[in-house]
Amino acid sequence: MKKSPVLLIVFIFNITLFSPILAIKAEAEVNQERSLAMEEIKSGSFVLPAFPYAEDALEPVISAKTLSFHYGKHHRGYVNKLNELVSGTELMGLGLEEVIEKTAAQPGKAGIFNNAAQVWNHNFYWNSLSPKGGGKPAGEIGKKIEADFGSYENFVQQFSEAGTAQFGSGWVWLVEDGGTLKIVKTANAENPVSQKNGKAILVLDVWEHAYYLDYQNRRSDHLKAVIDKLINWEFAEKNLNR
Ligand code: FE
Repeated sequence: MKKSPVLLIVFIFNITLFSPILAIKAEAEVNQERSLAMEEIKSGSFVLPAFPYAEDALEPVISAKTLSFHYGKHHRGYVNKLNELVSGTELMGLGLEEVIEKTAAQPGKAGIFNNAAQVWNHNFYWNSLSPKGGGKPAGEIGKKIEADFGSYENFVQQFSEAGTAQFGSGWVWLVEDGGTLKIVKTANAENPVSQKNGKAILVLDVWEHAYYLDYQNRRSDHLKAVIDKLINWEFAEKNLNR
């Protein structure tokens, strides 16, 4: 069928007229998103760190949906709430660890402590995982695991059991205390900075928001899969030597 020259002209006219308008609109939306991000940074001294890998990088063990909520809603929420709570107080401008130390075990500062510690814990948690992680570690950390737990298999069993046994929300940590690797559990937002129970080497989040969309109530299965496939032993090695 032969196309009408009039229709063709109208079509070309529309493309010519509206393409720049659409491009300007898209650019305005991007700029608005950028300015929202800048507002979030300017509103306080604590910043949500960039996510260290793609949101689907830990699949199938941790889904993109879980990571999207966990990082984009929970972690971001702690950062925003912390900035709101420290604004105008003597804690503004201090580092995250200083805020945790100054507010730990003080019932009147529980809100600031919980949000500061949760920001620290999640910063540490994302780095404790890696798309190329898991399995038996090599290097100095591998030797320390064998020396202090008897074998890698014993470590896996004790680490996953400790995480499963933590009642309610909390964290399971590998720490170095007095030259020895130990597994410790903390409740809610508590961590080795507030508890002074060793130098943090690795952590796994055992709050339900870390696994419920993927594993429902099967926390033990989640922990075993994470230890087997995602533990970032390079990060552990760096922490051992820091
Ligand atoms: Fe979490």
